[in-house]
Amino acid sequence: MLFNEPHPLEVKVLTKRFEYPQKDPIWIDEFLAKEGYAAFRKALEMPPDDIIGEVKKSALRGRGGAGFPTGLKWGFVDRSSPKPKYIVVNADEGEPGTCKDRVLMENDPHMLIEGCLIAGRAINANRGWIYIRGEYRYLIDILDRAIQQAYERGYLGENVQGSGWTFHLSTHTGAGSYECGEESALLESLEGKRGNPRLKPPFPATSGAFQCPTIVNNVETYCAVPSIILNGGEWYAGLGTPKNGGTRMVCLSGHLNRPGVYEVPLGYNLKQLIEEFGGGVWKGRRLKAVIPGGSSSPILTADEIDIPADYDSLAKAGSMLGSGATMVLDETTDMVKLAHRVMKFYAHESCGWCIPCREGTAWLEKMLRRLDEGIGVARDIDMVGQLSHSMLGRTFCALGDAAAMPTISIVEKFRHEFEAKLAAAQSFAPEPETQPLVVL
Ligand code: SF4
Repeated sequence: MLFNEPHPLEVKVLTKRFEYPQKDPIWIDEFLAKEGYAAFRKALEMPPDDIIGEVKKSALRGRGGAGFPTGLKWGFVDRSSPKPKYIVVNADEGEPGTCKDRVLMENDPHMLIEGCLIAGRAINANRGWIYIRGEYRYLIDILDRAIQQAYERGYLGENVQGSGWTFHLSTHTGAGSYECGEESALLESLEGKRGNPRLKPPFPATSGAFQCPTIVNNVETYCAVPSIILNGGEWYAGLGTPKNGGTRMVCLSGHLNRPGVYEVPLGYNLKQLIEEFGGGVWKGRRLKAVIPGGSSSPILTADEIDIPADYDSLAKAGSMLGSGATMVLDETTDMVKLAHRVMKFYAHESCGWCIPCREGTAWLEKMLRRLDEGIGVARDIDMVGQLSHSMLGRTFCALGDAAAMPTISIVEKFRHEFEAKLAAAQSFAPEPETQPLVVL
């Protein structure tokens, strides 16, 4: 169920079947009555190249965080390969602040199944998995029931809708690891191994699950596909900005009057999003900063947010759209504490595979804790920045960057808060005897 009533400015593509308040998931009869599986039936009549062509035209980009063009990814799969081809749904929604895939699966599970079917048809796959985080136990039950219904009505299984094509789909439960949201770590976990990322290349499109060609996309990405096939790629592209097609689910949280999950066109102005959808900053306070795309995205100050919220505009502003989790921070937010809290999360979630991330996040957490508790020394502030920079681009997977980027931005933009915290602590105590924790 959505957290709030719909907003009149929402553009409903993914949420078009939702009713408010949505009491139950949209099961198969209701789904079929509301254009459900119509896109898949249309796709059954289309050559795979045409399906991929429409997805390319739509300018749909992966909604999990990386923003890679979906049609391009599907086009990398060699459909003539003698190996089996696989579809994998990344439903391991773990980026702090992100809760939009949950809303889609909870309300309209057949939309996800339909997206998987179309993707399977496009790359000539016969098998798919929805890799879902274990904490979403109640959603697994919803998805399993929807999958069962799709089998009963001939949308999954042998000879799907009399086409002669076979497609099987099931859920696969993760054990609760942030790292398993990274596609190659997810595939390792799916194969029953420890969720460590793989060396790339090869990418999953050529060697994915069980060394077979695989496409891995986020829940929201697959959910967008039926509307693209039904209405055309150009229609979908026209909803967003150039190279940033369609709508996306935005999770607005933090110090807002009206936090919630909303569907907006890509490129919606970030400042307006906060004011019009989020109802502005709560308690009449002033805005201090915004984390625009989940905890791994670099922070923006209040005067940097009058920009379109799309992949390219946010990258130009030095941040990223990421998972669509927009966290709003009011003037009372302690930025030192925030930096420490974020690093504590990444230090905990580091899989320990590579040294820059394993050691870097652990040391950064220690230094930020010291600064937060007012027992650091002035040079710790510089060292936090230096150590974060030294991690960038030097880790095996993106978690190292995810930890470093927000830290660098918080220290650079709010250094005065770190200094003020130290000065306040030192005014109550004699010169600290504490030595720096590390010497770089
Ligand atoms: Fe593991 Fe971190 Fe290295 Fe990624 S960057 S492989 S999470 S230690």
